[in-house]
Amino acid sequence: MTYQTLNVDLAERSYPIFIGPDLLNKSELFTPYISGKKVLIVTNQTVAPLYLERLKSSLSSFELDEIILPDGEQYKTLDTVNLIFTHLLEKKHSRKTTLIALGGGVIGDMTGFAAASFQRGVDFIQIPTTVLSQVDSSVGGKTGVNHKLGKNMIGAFKQPKAVFADTNTLKTLPNRELSAGIAEVVKYGLITDYLFFEWLEKNILELYSLDERAVQYAIKQSCLVKADIVNQDEMESGVRALLNLGHTFGHAIETSLGYGKYLHGEAVAIGTVMASYLSVLEGNISFEDHLRIINLFEKVNLPVDSPVEMQVDDFVEKMSIDKKVVDGKLRLILFSKMSQAIISDTFDHEKLMKTLATKNF
Ligand code: NAD
Ligand code: MG
Repeated sequence: MTYQTLNVDLAERSYPIFIGPDLLNKSELFTPYISGKKVLIVTNQTVAPLYLERLKSSLSSFELDEIILPDGEQYKTLDTVNLIFTHLLEKKHSRKTTLIALGGGVIGDMTGFAAASFQRGVDFIQIPTTVLSQVDSSVGGKTGVNHKLGKNMIGAFKQPKAVFADTNTLKTLPNRELSAGIAEVVKYGLITDYLFFEWLEKNILELYSLDERAVQYAIKQSCLVKADIVNQDEMESGVRALLNLGHTFGHAIETSLGYGKYLHGEAVAIGTVMASYLSVLEGNISFEDHLRIINLFEKVNLPVDSPVEMQVDDFVEKMSIDKKVVDGKLRLILFSKMSQAIISDTFDHEKLMKTLATKNF
């Protein structure tokens, strides 16, 4: 199968996303987006043995350099980004160098941030290799690192020159990572795109088994939803918050239990079910539609029950320090109807408490 493209339309910062199998081998696709001679590939210890050589042989007409970082969210720090800066300076890179991120969202976020700040900005290209990074972190231009006082607290907006989502790379993903990425795909169906949600109900197992047609469609559709929202609100002053569906509850779960027990996408699946349940209590969606959401997550082995270890107070405490609190009022992303997310601060407090106290939805 051949590849597809879509354009993220942001005036002079517009860029294409290529989606398809074996893009790593298609050197002719990369060259138009690399303006100088020098390239620094940024990757990690897990992804390098799998895909670095293949990428390097496609880029052999450039002066290639590489840096292989340790793998893990705990390394998404300023210290690690500083390793990239040191490497760039030691190897005499200039403003004409293009950085290429080869890896998941952690590598993409750090490489993008390094590209935003090295000599006040150099070009960069994303080659996302996880479902999550292909449908989410590589679209929209948010880059950055964690601080010990908060996740993603230090960063910059920086759009890539192009994104290459090579669907073949997903075949080496651990199963849980695959499911966790699909949780974000389902999220797109739920935010604005009912037809996509229906498509997922019919095709989620094909997607889960990485059938090429299903994967390409799901990635493209997800990127379209995200690109459309980013296009309306690049700097997150309004509608972009819809992308946080399931994330406020999910964030509380991740931080209460410590990062590591649940993958981000797993926590988002539970969080989305909680948002859906509250929307049922608010009378906005039917209980049947709520069950359809649960059913979809369960088909790809995502968790849908609230963690037994968590009390209502744990949720309350963690949710009120979340970024989604504006002017002291908790805002949640709920449904106004099926597959239509809204930003709400008018939900009933008792119904929220009931949702936080419920374990099986
Ligand atoms: P990740 O980058 O940690 O990748 C998950 C694991 O899979 C890692 O161990 C990685 O080395 C490994 N891996 C990557 N590609 C592989 C492959 N093809 N085969 C085998 N293993 C592979 O995690 P992620 O889920 O891709 O991204 C999560 C990060 O993205 C978080 O830091 C999050 O904050 C960030 N994020 C950013 C945005 C944004 O808009 N910038 C949006 C969502 C998430
Ligand atoms: Mg997310």
